[in-house]
Amino acid sequence: MAETLIDDRILIAGAGIGGLSAAIALARRGISSHVLERLTSFSSEGAGIQLGPNATRILADWGVLDKLSSKAVASEGLLIGDGMTGEQLTSVPFGEVAEKRYGAPFLLVHRADLHQALLDSARKLEGIEITMDCDVKTYEQFPDEVALRTLKKSFRGRALIAADGLWSTFRQQIDKGATLSFTGKTAWRALVNPDTLPKELRGPKTGIWLSKNVHLVHYPVRGGQKINVVAVVNEHWGSRAEGWDQEADPQLLMPAFANWHEPIADFVNAAKAWRKWSLYHMPPLRAWTQGSVTLIGDAAHPVLPFLAQGGALAIEDASVLSAILAQHDNDPWRAFRHFESARIERTARTAYESRRMGNIYHMGGMARLVRNFIMRRSSPQFLLKRLDWLYQYPGGAQY
Ligand SMILES: Cc1cc2nc3c(=O)[nH]c(=O)nc-3n(C[C@H](O)[C@H](O)[C@H](O)COP(=O)(O)OP(=O)(O)OC[C@H]3O[C@@H](n4cnc5c(N)ncnc54)[C@H](O)[C@@H]3O)c2cc1C
Repeated sequence: MAETLIDDRILIAGAGIGGLSAAIALARRGISSHVLERLTSFSSEGAGIQLGPNATRILADWGVLDKLSSKAVASEGLLIGDGMTGEQLTSVPFGEVAEKRYGAPFLLVHRADLHQALLDSARKLEGIEITMDCDVKTYEQFPDEVALRTLKKSFRGRALIAADGLWSTFRQQIDKGATLSFTGKTAWRALVNPDTLPKELRGPKTGIWLSKNVHLVHYPVRGGQKINVVAVVNEHWGSRAEGWDQEADPQLLMPAFANWHEPIADFVNAAKAWRKWSLYHMPPLRAWTQGSVTLIGDAAHPVLPFLAQGGALAIEDASVLSAILAQHDNDPWRAFRHFESARIERTARTAYESRRMGNIYHMGGMARLVRNFIMRRSSPQFLLKRLDWLYQYPGGAQY
């Protein structure tokens, strides 16, 4: 018979960005948690993540930013260009301008560095236990507790925060109709040495180069020692593999850059070890809470990467959820409903805007010319202002 462990803490399924953030945010408010992670050890795989001020403000408050800063690159801004002509269409200033405006920096990091900083912080805090090799399958809910099952054991806790990522098992239990559909886009990524990039593109900035059905993003990570390159192309691959580390043949990618401006195409050619994954879309859920069970991060609201907000939304969720839980005297039934209503609109908007941005990036023909015309006329300050709704979000500080 399966062994049952009785536990009065909050259970968190998944020790990714959202799960660890939730554990940290709860511990800082004196709420204990037990994090159950499916993996047997953490991977150093993944690539770059851009952290806007909405995320770094929260990480700074938690003391995580100090642990990350030596590996992060402070971004000076965003440069958007046409990949076919090499023309710079517009730019958005970050650096000091954004820091002054939003009170926190815009950082470029490697996902593994962010994850490690969260893990180090979680391990130092009291009231957090992390158990690896726990592939949690289902939950059962009772008035005062939730039971979770793995193949070998059951765990009981006061409530469950499911942070089990894009392919969430728990999402299916809360909403059987929720389905992810392939967008027809795949993301290819590689880490390259800075000297493979033309000099003018090596700065501490994010470059986004656009063309019909394909765009390229690059920015430095690991303190500037590597450049993270991501090529997003329209293609019908649609692998449901959950990993982020599937090897991919660069020969299949190169035709997408055949008509590109040479220095940029050369740089794509220089990257050898490519990995790729399929991009999936899911219409926003109408509800992601059931009694004392709630979803956070990609499990609750997967977003496409075109506004670089997947990790940031998971961090915001953790900050807001912990504040609301404390506000409701640690009563998960009331707090989780409040949390969902506090977050549903913002996360749906971010998902919508991310998807829209992807379509704008891949425009061809006349639409591309009109887009380029509008971008040329958009001042950097105007574009920054249009991002206020995203970067000014106060997280849990508003409760
Ligand atoms: C290995 C990895 C690499 C990534 N690389 C990139 C990247 O390079 N660029 C980018 O933009 N985004 C990347 N992402 C996605 C980005 O990090 C997410 O948008 C963000 O992490 C959302 O946080 P999350 O906590 O919701 O999900 P995740 O960070 O994906 O964490 C989910 C966690 O839950 C665990 N889990 C899943 N199912 C179960 C289960 N049944 N029981 C217990 N645990 C379970 C997973 O092992 C994982 O640790 C990556 C995610 C992962 C897991």
